[in-house]
Amino acid sequence: MLLSATPEAIKAYQEELEKNKIKPDKLPPCSRCLVKSTFFKEHAYRDRKFLVIVDMVVKTFLSALLRFKCPGCGKTFTYYPDFALPHKHYTRQTFTYFSRIYVQDPDKTYQKAIMVNNSAPGYPDDQQTLAASTIHRFITTLSSLKTCSQKALDLILQENPASAICRNIANLKVPGQKFKSKSRENILVQCSRFFEIETLFQHTFNTSIFTKLAIRCAFT
Ligand SMILES: [Zn+2]
Repeated sequence: MLLSATPEAIKAYQEELEKNKIKPDKLPPCSRCLVKSTFFKEHAYRDRKFLVIVDMVVKTFLSALLRFKCPGCGKTFTYYPDFALPHKHYTRQTFTYFSRIYVQDPDKTYQKAIMVNNSAPGYPDDQQTLAASTIHRFITTLSSLKTCSQKALDLILQENPASAICRNIANLKVPGQKFKSKSRENILVQCSRFFEIETLFQHTFNTSIFTKLAIRCAFT
């Protein structure tokens, strides 16, 4: 499992962007007026700072996100490369790496979950490291990807209607020491379900939910 997207992947995406190779056809139809995404027009580029972990150091890479505009109603849609999450600087690999470690090991605390081979990823020229509270927020973000999760589940069941996945995710429990409130318990259960679905999706289709579906779900 990767700790983060690689600088190479970000550069490769940036090159595609500069060569106008990013097309809107993978986006879903306009959620407001249902115009097909193939008719969307390029609208704007927005710079985005990505935080990438290289040799346990958090480094900053600049890239851009492309927004498309629906010609029917003027609503705009962002195209997210598979390493990017909406409004986030850390790449999705970093979100999934640390969140998975926390939710899949009953004994992991947030403090333990940030440790990779006895140290936490750090910021350059600084004593600070990735904070335990950051993992808490990562999990909240992943638990909110409900459309993505549902679509992935639908595809798995289409492929294998006898799959036990629905039963498995319905039975998922989170150890009581991991939450103090019902709302946090729900978030942790949702995140655990996401990983169950993501693992089976990877196994079934040999690709990740993010590569295959995130763009189509416009990330909700
Ligand atoms: Zn529209």
